[in-house]
Amino acid sequence: MSAQAQSPADEPAPHWSPQTLSVTAGRPQDPGAPLNQPPVLASNFRDGGDTLYARFGTPSHDAFEEAIGALEGGLAVAFSSGMAAAAAILGTLPAGARVVTSDNIYHGVRGLLADLERLGSAVDVRVDALDLIAVEQALTDAALLWIETPSNPLIQVLDVERLCRLAEEHGVPVVVDSTFATPMRLNPLALGATYVVHSATKYIGGHSDLLMGVVVARDEERLAPISEQRTLRGAAPGALETFLALRGLRTLGLRLDRAETNAQVLAQRLLEHPHVTEVFYPGLPSDPGHLTASRQMRGFGAMLSFCVASEDEADRVLARCRLIVGATSLGGVESTAERRNRWHEGTRTGLIRLSVGIEDLDDIWADLSPALGQLSPQTQR
Ligand SMILES: *Cc1c(COP(=O)(O)O)cnc(C)c1O
Repeated sequence: MSAQAQSPADEPAPHWSPQTLSVTAGRPQDPGAPLNQPPVLASNFRDGGDTLYARFGTPSHDAFEEAIGALEGGLAVAFSSGMAAAAAILGTLPAGARVVTSDNIYHGVRGLLADLERLGSAVDVRVDALDLIAVEQALTDAALLWIETPSNPLIQVLDVERLCRLAEEHGVPVVVDSTFATPMRLNPLALGATYVVHSATKYIGGHSDLLMGVVVARDEERLAPISEQRTLRGAAPGALETFLALRGLRTLGLRLDRAETNAQVLAQRLLEHPHVTEVFYPGLPSDPGHLTASRQMRGFGAMLSFCVASEDEADRVLARCRLIVGATSLGGVESTAERRNRWHEGTRTGLIRLSVGIEDLDDIWADLSPALGQLSPQTQR
């Protein structure tokens, strides 16, 4: 995008931590400039400058992209939603391309792949990405490896570095959907990924008030076709969204620290709860993803899932909650939860996915504990 001149490649960012970069990156630098890039609410621009037409990007887009690019260590392009970002990557593939996907990915992306299959433009090859032998076999003749970690809704942690190394041996580019980890907790490009995708609708925006997505590419050569897809498909976000998402990003670290602290305690209490049959949270030492997450992430995030005995019991828990909002989306300041198999994706029947918010922990537990307490105890785990 026109932010190219401000890209980390041209102007190496100081080795600031993600927390500092989330506050400092993407700010206008000229003397007298506002501290934050204001939203440029314009579609059309006078000839002679860098900005031509909003579908190609504006200074509002550039500021957001510069900040995310700095955090991920690559070059970013913003989209009107996470799905638009995913569609742009898949839109660059040759006809009939085999896309190897980890079992547990966002159902919207799975649906998008099914739609591309209908058009003959991609073939979805599902693998258990914890089984490296299966991944290796699937990578033969593959055009892309698409993984999500931590995953939705099983909060499964994949070993990004090992998977990228395998893919590289087969010359296959790797996309990591890092929405749950956010750039504060995981940087897939540094582990060998080709692209990172985020639904900025979630943690980056953080206030449940906008839809946005972003793709971060390793280098300019990888970025160019993605940017072109955005232009061709008209998938640029509105300037106001990019402004709000960047404002959200400024507090991402604080929000996530608080939500993660809450999640860690809640996961432990859920694990010990007699009415809960299973808990999925990589911060639990007993979780199968704990070691990998400890190694590759800077924290475990604030998404967790847990199971009660049945669909009916899950509904009763959610109906009883007052503070925890029944809602499908996630990553906002407020705690939200849903019975995930209502989307018919073959998920465990009694699974509740909880996006832990930044409210007072005692209040969240005071909401959840009686909701669980009304259920009949489980005798076996
Ligand atoms: C929400 C989500 C998406 C899709 O993003 P939208 O902004 O809703 O289009 C993709 N991946 C994951 C992991 C998500 O949670």
